[in-house]
Amino acid sequence: MPPIPDFPRGPRPAVRVGPYLATMPNGVFGDPLLHVRLAYQKRSLLIDCGEGQKLAARIAHQVTDVLITHAHADHVAGLLSFIRSRIGEWPACRIYGPRGIADNVAGMLAGIHWDRAGRRAPRFDVFELHGAVIKSFLVAAGRREPDLLEEITGTCGRLFTDQHVTIRAIELDHMTPVLAFSVTPAANVRVRRDRLDALGLEPGPWLTVFKDKLLAGKLDASVELPTGEFSTASALADELCFVEPPQTLVYATDLADTPSNRKRLSEFAAGAHTLFLEAAFRISDVEQAERTGHLTTRACGEIALRAGVEQLIPFHFSRRYEKDAAAVYAEVARVFPNTVLPSGVIAADSS
Ligand SMILES: [Zn+2]
Repeated sequence: MPPIPDFPRGPRPAVRVGPYLATMPNGVFGDPLLHVRLAYQKRSLLIDCGEGQKLAARIAHQVTDVLITHAHADHVAGLLSFIRSRIGEWPACRIYGPRGIADNVAGMLAGIHWDRAGRRAPRFDVFELHGAVIKSFLVAAGRREPDLLEEITGTCGRLFTDQHVTIRAIELDHMTPVLAFSVTPAANVRVRRDRLDALGLEPGPWLTVFKDKLLAGKLDASVELPTGEFSTASALADELCFVEPPQTLVYATDLADTPSNRKRLSEFAAGAHTLFLEAAFRISDVEQAERTGHLTTRACGEIALRAGVEQLIPFHFSRRYEKDAAAVYAEVARVFPNTVLPSGVIAADSS
């Protein structure tokens, strides 16, 4: 095993941000894959779908949204097993990506013979970002071509929103279009246990019903308490809750170090809580970074600094550094001190 230093939860980055837990099952050297688990909702989002750690079937069935930066093999190789896991009568799953992603997904589906799946064959709602326009497609097993459903204008890069989460994207340049994504959860409603105890109310499913009504803005809606009495969402919010402001997560990888990319990404990520950003090459390998359209450790740190994010999680390190991950982290952290480091890595390392 290469000596990758440990994070508190193990060798892979994992952070809790507001109401969600974000983990990289393949680590920082494996194919990019970020699993964003929305707490209490039995719902997951995937950002990129590289090959590696197989998601548990229970998790794969609960994925509602798959966000693909671009269709290079290391970002989509895991889609085939994900498609396989979606055979069955599962809720709708949306896939987002740059122009052409509908054809990429349709091509994967077309590579499989679907005579046994019938109504259980997987189908996806696929959304492509084309500048200011979002094109939506139905991509389903057994159909050769994606069906263009609609062209949506005026979204300003907002791909999806519901009462729990908003997903946005911008297009960057990787010598091919690549998307960066932001995921903003709804404000996190925290119920105070001391208030529940004082009012003699047991926690239970009624709290989820109450929070859903509150987040949907249904303040006058009535909520049944465990005592059998009723109250309104508004009254319960006043009595029981405090609200944490939303904490945005931004994910970007595979982008050339150009003035335009730096400006666009730092504006997109401005004020975000957590930025997952590639740091593919060390400063000494800047020529390799330029040739392949990737960032160096220094560029990674400088973009985080310019965006003013709260914390930075660098990833997608070239495998050439597997024996010296600490040096990669140290270069990033020298530029952006609030880099999330594995234990044992010292930000001020001057090696
Ligand atoms: Zn790429």
